Amino acid sequence: MTSKPAAAAAQATVYGYPRQGPDRELKKAIEGYWKGRVTADALRETAAELRRSNWRQLAGAGVHEVPTGDFSYYDHVLDTSVMVGAVPDRHREAVASDALDGYFAMARGTQDVAPLEMTKWFDTNYHYLVPELGPDTVFSADSTKQVTELTEALALGHTARPVLVGPVTYLLLAKPAPGVAAGFEPLTLLDRLLPVYAEVLADLRAAGARWVQLDEPALVQDRTPAELNAAARAYRGLGALTDRPQLLVASYFDRLGEALPVLAKAPVEGLALDFTGAAAANLEDLAAVGGLPGKRLVAGVVNGRNIWINDYEKSLATLATLLGLAGRVDVAASCSLLHVPLDTAPEKDIDPEILRWLAFARQKTDEVVTLAKGLALGTEAVASEIAANRAAHASRAGSPLTRDPAVRARAAAVTEADGRRSQPYGERAAAQRAHLGLPLLPTTTIGSFPQTGELRTARADLRAGRIGTAGYEERIRAEIGEVIAFQEKTGIDVLVHGEPERNDMVQYFAEQLTGYLATQHGWVQSYGTRYVRPPVLAGDISRPAPMTVRWTFYAQSLTDRPVKGMLTGPVTMLAWSFVRDDQPLGDTARQVALALRDEVNDLEAGGTSVIQVDEPALRETLPLRAAGRADYLAWATESFRLTTSGVRPDTQIHTHMCYAEFGDIVQAIDDLDADVISLEAARSHMQVAHELAAHGYPREAGPGVYDIHSPRVPSAEEAAQLLRTGLKAIPAERLWVNPDCGLKTRAWPETRASLENLVAAARTVRGEL
Ligand code: GLN
Ligand code: ZN
Repeated sequence: MTSKPAAAAAQATVYGYPRQGPDRELKKAIEGYWKGRVTADALRETAAELRRSNWRQLAGAGVHEVPTGDFSYYDHVLDTSVMVGAVPDRHREAVASDALDGYFAMARGTQDVAPLEMTKWFDTNYHYLVPELGPDTVFSADSTKQVTELTEALALGHTARPVLVGPVTYLLLAKPAPGVAAGFEPLTLLDRLLPVYAEVLADLRAAGARWVQLDEPALVQDRTPAELNAAARAYRGLGALTDRPQLLVASYFDRLGEALPVLAKAPVEGLALDFTGAAAANLEDLAAVGGLPGKRLVAGVVNGRNIWINDYEKSLATLATLLGLAGRVDVAASCSLLHVPLDTAPEKDIDPEILRWLAFARQKTDEVVTLAKGLALGTEAVASEIAANRAAHASRAGSPLTRDPAVRARAAAVTEADGRRSQPYGERAAAQRAHLGLPLLPTTTIGSFPQTGELRTARADLRAGRIGTAGYEERIRAEIGEVIAFQEKTGIDVLVHGEPERNDMVQYFAEQLTGYLATQHGWVQSYGTRYVRPPVLAGDISRPAPMTVRWTFYAQSLTDRPVKGMLTGPVTMLAWSFVRDDQPLGDTARQVALALRDEVNDLEAGGTSVIQVDEPALRETLPLRAAGRADYLAWATESFRLTTSGVRPDTQIHTHMCYAEFGDIVQAIDDLDADVISLEAARSHMQVAHELAAHGYPREAGPGVYDIHSPRVPSAEEAAQLLRTGLKAIPAERLWVNPDCGLKTRAWPETRASLENLVAAARTVRGEL
């Protein structure tokens, strides 16, 4: 690539930055405010200081145009609801009496009112608050937050670009408000919403914005012609305004597809496109529509949601191609950097050799700046950066961590038969019935029991060296003893050990598998003030030693009833980690599956007859566009079967899923070839039981009859009623009785009462059969 004068203007930018601060200052300030220990003014000052320091950091690194408005006390979609005045009736009073407390009431609820519903932001692990809209929704503009933050940045001398959730995506993410007929489509409110955006745009222009970014990630999903028309109408309308800044419409997480020609034609001044992963197809699509002559193209060539270093030579080649396709090309991360941790520098426990392969938000910012410089001045201007980047990639490719010949040989030798049980489901079910001797409507739980303060203290004591491993394990054994005794006394049929030794269902396994790394400070916002530290799946995966068996066997030694072994499945292990990007996901899933298969087989060899492999993430990692789904579901179900197919026919394999609608993946659930599945269902009144039945799902199933997301204790009669509803869809020989999910977030008193009622309900309904 040679430098061209046309590229001399190439600039570096990002769409958003981690909000929490290097020491999670924002989390601490907000939670302090909730507890009354931090005043509103102090919270505002902490927030303002974090914004200032983020802009300083970005500008200092060489970013030309910093984002504003990406900061949030809780969630940017909630901020958008406030900006357009979409406050649900039940929160109006709280919002009117105090804007900040009202905002948190919408986010978290109060004693008297429920919060907005929360759900996943596309296929990331970030959760947003779902706007509630109805035919009576009246929008009104409140640009205060956007204008304030822009003004702050401009006052500090930064070139700043406000970032807003676009109107089409906002409406597509909304749901009908409670009481509104389910068929109501929020997108029908577009014409009412656009004038509000027009007002905000005018306010931002008046405050000094030259560009405003409108994020429309919903347009990378499969969209109907009507939805695409709505997008065309929205941007024709906004483009036609006279009193407005220049508009940059941003997309990310996948290719724009059919929406690309729509936006390319729209009278807006710029588009931002993702060129990483599957979204790289945007490059061809862009050429096919004749490029964006005269427009600004912001090229997301640095992956904004994974933690690996960029490939400079590849990115510069992409950028060089793009130069011929737009009036001006700028460089960015593919999406907001909110989805990655802040900085690799404080990671003192990671081998420096491996640290060279990782890029968190700060490092990604540097990458964007370097690429923009390379684009503007030619590759010679960044020759040393390119050389270092090439060396880091070579180190990664040649590392024994990423290439373990034994793991690779084993994965390559896997045959179709390894992923198939030795007998079909029907025969296995009979063998299991004989082997386990369970009653009709058997009762069980999903795995975890309350993670009490004592357990957390014990883990903290262990970390701080106040107790040794022996002392810690003594406490775990005591807890297991109590959990087993309670289940026996209550009359539960298939017991669990309660998972007291697990800090987290993915991290616990990641810590014991070779090929995984843990970070010390790699916090990423999951929702509100909840941050998680996803492990990094960096290399070839192997299991040096059994991970769970001693706890399961200890539990089994205390009782004659069957104790279920508990594992996290391969798809969920990938979904809740940062996954290596140097091989197909399916190859990584297969390695994880083989490691877990050894654990399954060890459990069986030690006498465990029921083994549950949880896959709560199966539905959420489904690709955004239908085109990628068959391939995903093929490797996802194959890796589950590989995990579970090494056992005898009379060993019963369970799986568990939650947090999702399952209607569209029943075939995939069937393809797992598990013997029993437990699913979240209590809130939806057993709807999933009917979805399974409608599909002819032939296996045993336990749709949850106890909603574990609330401390509320379901009565025995209520649980019995849900079981009777379940029996209309699933025959008694195949229906299990269990809660929706694990009990780790619950306290003991409500857990005790609820499980006693659950067992009583099972007994009552058995008597009616
Ligand atoms: N076995 C896990 C538990 O009981 C399952 C958790 C989940 O599905 N998220 O906690
Ligand atoms: Zn669950």
